[in-house]
Amino acid sequence: MHAPLPGSVRVRFAPSPTGYLHVGGVRTALYNWLYARAQGGVFILRIEDTDVERSTAAAVRAILDGLRWLDLGWDEGPEAGGPAGPYRQLEREAHYREHTARLVRDGKAYPCTCTAEELAARREAARAAKRSVRHLCPCRETGPVAGRRAAIRFQVSDAGAVAWDDLIQGRIEVVRAEIDDFIIVRSDERETPVYNFAAVVDDAMMGITHVIRGADHIPNTPRQILLYEALGYRLPAFGHIPLVLGTDREKLSKRHGDVALHEYQAKGYLPEALVNYLVRLGWAHGDQELFSREELVRVFRLEKVGAAPGVFDHAKLDWLNGVYIRQAPPGRLAELLTPFWEPAGIGRELVERRGQAWLLQAIPLFVERSKTLREMAGAMRFLFQAPAAWEPKAAAKYLTPAHRGHLRAARQALAGAVEFSAEALEALVRALVEGRGHKLVEYAQPIRVAMTGSAASPPLFPILSLLGRDEVLRRIDRLLEEGN
Ligand code: GLU
Repeated sequence: MHAPLPGSVRVRFAPSPTGYLHVGGVRTALYNWLYARAQGGVFILRIEDTDVERSTAAAVRAILDGLRWLDLGWDEGPEAGGPAGPYRQLEREAHYREHTARLVRDGKAYPCTCTAEELAARREAARAAKRSVRHLCPCRETGPVAGRRAAIRFQVSDAGAVAWDDLIQGRIEVVRAEIDDFIIVRSDERETPVYNFAAVVDDAMMGITHVIRGADHIPNTPRQILLYEALGYRLPAFGHIPLVLGTDREKLSKRHGDVALHEYQAKGYLPEALVNYLVRLGWAHGDQELFSREELVRVFRLEKVGAAPGVFDHAKLDWLNGVYIRQAPPGRLAELLTPFWEPAGIGRELVERRGQAWLLQAIPLFVERSKTLREMAGAMRFLFQAPAAWEPKAAAKYLTPAHRGHLRAARQALAGAVEFSAEALEALVRALVEGRGHKLVEYAQPIRVAMTGSAASPPLFPILSLLGRDEVLRRIDRLLEEGN
């Protein structure tokens, strides 16, 4: 392992665009991004799209949109002077071909024309005879069969071991005798390079100094090291981040709930909350929980990433999201809430009619109770639309004949209010209640039910002021007439 020169760190995130962007992958991207930023290095995004059957344009978009949403920008791209990146493996086929030719020419790789059926039959025969199932392909000795399309196999010598000092997992060693001559280029029309080969060619050509990726790639690393050696390239440092697990300690998957980044976005998690949550999933800085981006760049250390897997804790993410919602200025929340109005059943024109100044007064009333932006938009719905129904329990409790009397008295007072500000309304209703020798809740609760349909809501008087006199009176009248 070598120590990179200061400022020369080059890392990459290399997702395959075959599905959604998994939060475990996002954490890998984040650790790479932070490492690059902390070291004044370069963060490269490389789309590993050589598997044309499974790669989709939508998945590429999900990766780019997701990283942009999280503000994990990448630095470089193939077009000099053009827009920065990402690199795409499909645009780099000439490099793989050139490297393949080099290995074949040097006698380090050879064409193989074995069919899948032949290999399967030989494997079965070897098993039945209790022989090793390695080296099932004779092409190294016999040469390829004429007239068949050839794959290219990399030749692995039996002597010794492959070892590396993993930045996160410590020393890992594998004996070469356990590694088969493996395929590096498939026999298909496109001559598709396999992941291990394309990744090594790219990492080497792109000058990657630290390969930081998920621990599921540990079995690939010995093969990749052999390729580096055969090609005469300098080895990068490797760091394998432990997997993210569900609460049952199985690899985090759909069974455990949402795993795709876009699902968290759609539910109204803030990008900074997700970043803060994911960074702590496997890395610690004392027992600190909250980090600004600037602070993360300052204190993040790859060596402090633990080797033990992290368990995804939805409750903790909810807590963090609440923290970030409460910290966000109302103007930012107004912007973030924009895509959530329609799904909450609030037409955009309703929001626009109320205007920005009104919205900025309303939003702070809801931050305390909302874990996500989706919840928040839902909780604000009654501000835009009268409740379609009243919660039966609340109505039963706060619509007794006595409460109806209070509601009528309150209606009259509110109808005659000189000023409709929260403070003025509070003073008015308190004076009314005291004058009649009652308690505020006996008036506040039925009013609340009339306004919101439920007995729980943010502070009442600011709500009345936001709704405005006409709407307040209309909702009280409706409850008095139709509530039972
Ligand atoms: N395309 C691989 C993946 O998505 C990249 C692994 C690596 O970082 O080398 O898992």
